[in-house]
Amino acid sequence: MKLIKRLRVKTSAHVRLTKIATDETPGCRDKETAQEQLADTLAELPKLQYRLFAENRRAVLVVLQAMDAAGKDGVVRHVMSGLNPQACRVTSFKVPSALERQHDFLWRIHQAVPPAGEIGVFNRSHYEDVLVARVRKLVPPAVWKARFQMINDFERYLTENGVTVVKFFLHISRAEQAQRLDARLADPARNWKFTPADIEERRLWDDYQAAYEDVLSRCSTPWAPWHVVPADHKWYRNWAVAEVLRQAMRKMDLQFPPPRHDARDLRRRLAAQEAGKC
Ligand code: AMP
Ligand code: MG
Repeated sequence: MKLIKRLRVKTSAHVRLTKIATDETPGCRDKETAQEQLADTLAELPKLQYRLFAENRRAVLVVLQAMDAAGKDGVVRHVMSGLNPQACRVTSFKVPSALERQHDFLWRIHQAVPPAGEIGVFNRSHYEDVLVARVRKLVPPAVWKARFQMINDFERYLTENGVTVVKFFLHISRAEQAQRLDARLADPARNWKFTPADIEERRLWDDYQAAYEDVLSRCSTPWAPWHVVPADHKWYRNWAVAEVLRQAMRKMDLQFPPPRHDARDLRRRLAAQEAGKC
């Protein structure tokens, strides 16, 4: 079975995250194989991106969601690194600004959706509005509960307007998160990534996992499915995200636009012009 299908959350599945292993490596034997295949995938992604750009009709939107330290930044660094920056944009969503809070929650999201020909990556996304907003009680339950349907409708609208939406949940264990946060604290070069709020967020681990289960159960649609990537092994995480993205882009059957002119005739004219000059 193709990886993209294997990791996909089936529409209307009732997801239980404790039942999905964080340290398994479905579809890949070992680290060495993963690294070889990743190199191959990373060589192909810019070619697919080039076709997307040339076709200039559709866009790709990659959504990354995960608990802290699960590897959203790592995926951006390791998987998106080979893409042409001219046709790729990464947006990291932070706490909404005063202006953003004056608008509906999808306002800032819609503005960051990639235009035709480009790949957009969301490092966090509109899903924060049913995750942190719920867990931290930033809005009443009636407000976040209504958002699942709004999100599904919004993503449907995007796909019907030519945006292929590929969503990843990077799934790590609590123990792995502890190790990674500790490594951040121990390393002066990574210390800055750590905030006391991270410890506070970690205390709410179970609430976040429950909120993620609802997200995955309610918003994995035929038009914008979720993929759950076991992410305790960084090598597997990078391999899997790259491979799913490759499979999603291959499926788009991206085409160069038909020639708008007779290339043979133009070459003849070019040659005649050059000859005339000499
Ligand atoms: P980081 O990704 O580590 O730079 O942190 C960004 C922070 O912004 C996280 O704590 C998110 O929970 C928070 N954040 C992102 N989107 C929202 C949102 N819509 N509402 C509230 N907090 C958010
Ligand atoms: Mg952080």
